Amino acid sequence: MFYADLSPYAYCDDGDEFTDLTDGMRFVSFRPVYELSNVGWLEADHSWTSGQAPREFAHRLLAIVDAQQVNTMLGLHKCDLCPTPLPDSHPWYVPRPGDLLASAGTGEIRVPGSLGAVFAAPRLIGHYVVDHGYLPPQSFIDAVLAFDPYGAWEARFPGIRFPWLPDDADLRHVDDE
Ligand SMILES: [Zn+2]
Repeated sequence: MFYADLSPYAYCDDGDEFTDLTDGMRFVSFRPVYELSNVGWLEADHSWTSGQAPREFAHRLLAIVDAQQVNTMLGLHKCDLCPTPLPDSHPWYVPRPGDLLASAGTGEIRVPGSLGAVFAAPRLIGHYVVDHGYLPPQSFIDAVLAFDPYGAWEARFPGIRFPWLPDDADLRHVDDE
């Protein structure tokens, strides 16, 4: 699945199912009230930028990937930048030899940017950055460096560490069920 960096996000137009893993597992589903822009939806057939990101960037990006799972129901994304397809015998969640992160992943992440603007990236972006040297747009790098996925946001939705949730967001705590 390819989307150009900074193009408007349109993959899931049904609202977001946002899972916060920082404090147990909490789900909130809502229709975003901000603009969503794509970052890191790479495919081998489309050119992408490689380069050296600030060291702190990869560290912070992986913390976000660990903290969030958005729209996981949309299925598995497989990296096709890797030189060979993953053999069926290789579990998708296990990194390939020599890689730091798995070359397939489910779901997306959300990174708040400037006011009212949020970046939408596949969770596989961690693999693209650390194993393929993908260099995302500077506006995304700045947003990742500025966002603390363990920070406190939105007292109305305890445990959901994300800004700008609409009043009609539907919060569910897995441990309540
Ligand atoms: Zn890969």
